[in-house]
Formats: sequence, C-alpha cells, structure tokens
Amino acid sequence: MREAIINNMLDLSDRNQFAFSVKCTVCGKSWNSTPVSFSKAGKNTVSESKEILYTALYQREKQLAALKAVDEAKKNLNFCPVCKSIVCDSCFMICDDIDMCVECANALQEKGEPVDTAP
Ligand SMILES: [Zn+2]
Ligand SMILES: [Zn+2]
Repeated sequence: MREAIINNMLDLSDRNQFAFSVKCTVCGKSWNSTPVSFSKAGKNTVSESKEILYTALYQREKQLAALKAVDEAKKNLNFCPVCKSIVCDSCFMICDDIDMCVECANALQEKGEPVDTAP
C-alpha cells in the first residue's frame, strides 16, 4: 500500500509548509495530509550560506513530512487488493470474502457495504 500511496501522492508544499494530497483512484476525490510547517517558515535568509543551510533543512523536513503524510494516508484511505489502487472510504466496499473498491466489486459482481455510508 505504501508504494501505491507514494506513487499517487501530489506535492502541495510551498516555502512555508509541507502538504501532500492523494487522489482516490475511483472518484478522484482528493485527501489532504495535515500540513506541517517548515521550522524556518517566514524567515528571510540573510546570507548565501544561510540560504544553503535552510535549503538543506527544508529538504530534510520535507522528507520527514512526506513519510508522515504516507502514514496518515494509510489510516485514511484504503488499498484495493484486486486492482492495487488507493481509494477513499466511500469507494471501498466491505465484501464477504475480501474488501475491495466499488469498481472491482461491480466487475466481479461482489456485493458489499461501503465503508463510508454517509452521503
Ligand atoms: Zn472515492
Ligand atoms: Zn479495485
């Protein structure tokens, strides 16, 4: 699942914060990670050496934020074991034998209940 999330993850980060989003493969609805602020957000770099330092720091913090976003996505999204795609709760079905996405359930004529029954 981890790899499928990473492949589907969009980088929405800017200079001040790190944020990522993952799209549901079925309905296209985006799930957004909780944004994480860059520790040097809003600070102006005074010298060229600081700029290099901040850039390195930014890259490191971004990597950590991305890992966190993947973990968060794992809790909020579902992985269809049949088509290997990432789907949101409304597109994921609890079926008798194995849970799968709506599209696979339709294709395989499996009956099930969606995880998220709210409209
Ligand atoms: Zn969906
Ligand atoms: Zn599927």
